[in-house]
Amino acid sequence: MSHVKTNIRMAKYYCPYCNTNKIVEYESYFKCTLCKSKFDKFDFATTEDKSDLLSLGELKGIAKVLKKYKPKGKDLSELFEDINDDSEQK
Ligand SMILES: [Zn+2]
Repeated sequence: MSHVKTNIRMAKYYCPYCNTNKIVEYESYFKCTLCKSKFDKFDFATTEDKSDLLSLGELKGIAKVLKKYKPKGKDLSELFEDINDDSEQK
C-alpha cells in the first residue's frame, strides 16, 4: 500500500455514480455537477473499487440512522462491543 499517497496526489476525481469528470473540487471533497453528490477525496483515493464509494450524503444518512437506533446512554463504540459480544456467545 505504499502507492496510496501517490494515488491521492495523482487521483483524477470523477463521480462514481455518473462516471463524469464534471466535478467541482473543494479542499477535502469534490462535488459532482450532475447528481450533486459529494465525495471525500481521501475516500476516493483509497477506495480501489469506486463503485463501493459512498457519497458524503449517504455517510451522513448512515450516521443518522445509527444515532437514531442506538440504545440510550450508550455511545456507538459500546454498541459495537455489544454486537461483538453477542457473536462470541453463539
Ligand atoms: Zn454524479
